[in-house]
Amino acid sequence: MSHSNALGGKKALVTGGSRGIGSAIAKRLAADGAEVAITYAGNKTAADATVAAIEQAGGKAVAIQADASDDASQRAGIEAAAAALGGFDILVHNAGVAEFAAIEEDTDESFARQFGVNVRGLHVGTRAALPHLSDGGRIILIGSVAADRAPFGGISTYGATKAAVAGLGRGWAKDLASRNILVNVIQPGPIETDMAPTGDLADALRQSVPLGRFGAVEEIAGVAAFLAGPDATFITGTTLNVDGGVSL
Ligand code: NDP
Repeated sequence: MSHSNALGGKKALVTGGSRGIGSAIAKRLAADGAEVAITYAGNKTAADATVAAIEQAGGKAVAIQADASDDASQRAGIEAAAAALGGFDILVHNAGVAEFAAIEEDTDESFARQFGVNVRGLHVGTRAALPHLSDGGRIILIGSVAADRAPFGGISTYGATKAAVAGLGRGWAKDLASRNILVNVIQPGPIETDMAPTGDLADALRQSVPLGRFGAVEEIAGVAAFLAGPDATFITGTTLNVDGGVSL
């Protein structure tokens, strides 16, 4: 899995690193030399598998259970990760949930759950992490192209959470520029994970992507590694669509 030592000596926290995009980002940052902590909600088996894959490849990783939607749990998870690593240079807010329902069928509970993980968890988590984040560090938020468009019905609340993520990223980039902490948002298009739609909706989505396919998790991880690395020193406050052209 060796890529480079571009992140040698760096310490990275990836939320939601047990599965999907977060697991791929954790593996890639570790392959580039970073020591990694991941959080997960409940899937210890998957979290342990991510850690094992990193260790088998010669890297260092630790998994910590922390529910991003629960303020106390999120804060405790960040503190535990900071203690395990000795601080952070890279913070990747990847944990997220998607629930699709048209407004007539939508519920207060689903709205609260999605905003709890996708938005509040970032706010609570970043404030908890900042005292441990080095000057010159990086914050990477995983948003979605759904921030800017509604590719199918029932995506309003999820899209609203991801529009909020883009807003947080822009604002934090200004707030933290004086510490040379660079904050950017990756907005994936459809990516092959447990979250991706299946069946007819997946077929329709695939046809809407100019490149004709869903993305692979490694194609998001590579962009995260770039934004975390030494070639991205003058990029802050941007939202970067990584979507096979679906947003064109
Ligand atoms: P997956 O469903 O495959 O994985 C979600 C990850 O987030 C898991 O590690 C899960 O942990 C964790 N997680 C979920 N809820 C919580 C919580 N309350 N607290 C802590 N961790 C939690 O999702 P993806 O990899 O597809 O998505 C990752 C990010 O990418 C999300 O922010 C998503 O919105 C975004 N995205 C995904 C796209 C896609 O097509 N897949 C497209 C655009 C954006 P556990 O394993 O314990 O459940």
